[in-house]
Amino acid sequence: MASQEKIISFPHMGNYHIAIEFLIRHVLENIQVLTPPPITKKTLELGAKHSPDFVCVPFKYNLGNYLEALDGGANLLVQSGGGCRFGYYGEIQEQILRDLGYDFEFISIIDNENVNPLAFFSRFKRLNPQLSFARFAYYFYLTFKMIEAMDTIDATIRANIGFAVQEGSFEKLQKEFLQKLPSVNGFRSLDRIYRHYHALFRQLEVNKPANPIRVGIVGELYTLMEPFSSCFIEKELAKKGIQVTRFITVSYLLRHHPKSSDLLKWAGKYLEYEIGADGTDSVARAKMLAEAGYDGVIHIKPFGCTPEVNSMPMMQNISNDYKMPVLYFSFDAQTSETGVHTRLEAFHDMLMMRREANTWQNVI
Ligand code: SF4
Repeated sequence: MASQEKIISFPHMGNYHIAIEFLIRHVLENIQVLTPPPITKKTLELGAKHSPDFVCVPFKYNLGNYLEALDGGANLLVQSGGGCRFGYYGEIQEQILRDLGYDFEFISIIDNENVNPLAFFSRFKRLNPQLSFARFAYYFYLTFKMIEAMDTIDATIRANIGFAVQEGSFEKLQKEFLQKLPSVNGFRSLDRIYRHYHALFRQLEVNKPANPIRVGIVGELYTLMEPFSSCFIEKELAKKGIQVTRFITVSYLLRHHPKSSDLLKWAGKYLEYEIGADGTDSVARAKMLAEAGYDGVIHIKPFGCTPEVNSMPMMQNISNDYKMPVLYFSFDAQTSETGVHTRLEAFHDMLMMRREANTWQNVI
């Protein structure tokens, strides 16, 4: 790539681009940052058009984000790493983009073998030789606390949004909260914003029954955290007056993730060995949700996601033993939103009937 001003970009996942952009702006001051346009059907169509058919759908979304970012002027792309085969996808995406004629640099900031602040620092330092470790550590931790604040507020929203008295009140306040984050200039200012909005969220009027229908969502991390990729499943459940619980968030994965030995202990007789990526988590959490008396579990995954396919028989056993319905969804580029909504509707009706008649059945 000829010498020119560097413009860095990265793939989307939920609202986390706010935190990523915040970190880049403060530690790579020598580089411009360009957040790709929000994901739309066009993003997915673009990504799917240039992806091998068989790859899991997060690859297609990421490729769509890269293409839109390159077309918007980016020339330095951050490869998204991750467990499972996603860790190898960067090389294929790079080759596809080069074959399409794009001129860019492709860098990996996440080393799958080495997820720690020092490894992150050495990668950022390569991009900004002036960067001191003290500055990096400060903003890295501040960004992590920002992500934690976003995740905590999200959990409050998830638990209450289905019961909002004023339609759109949670969405409106969340938008306002997210807009404030880029102006954070230290831990105190982050804490002020977080406390202020957390209190405001708790003051929003809700009409929540004492024993609402509760559904847990488990599965693969990208489809859990990028709402577009699951046809906005959490929003759909909220519209039906369901309280939603989800464990996997970025702060959970970075800091609060249980040890695999604990997950296996929680999964009990249903799982003896780790099954990779988020599969072990899905089984352990499904059992915990069943024991906590949840009305149902929704398991979501990209089509062909091996670790999550492996977790399904164990979840079915949990479903049978605890008489708790589990609804399974696979998402790909062709998933029909109408089909998803119809199945959710049926699942909801069944949960309501079970509440009334205290009967149960599984949905596959
Ligand atoms: S966890 Fe699933 S979606 Fe992610 S890379 Fe592995 S197979 Fe693909």
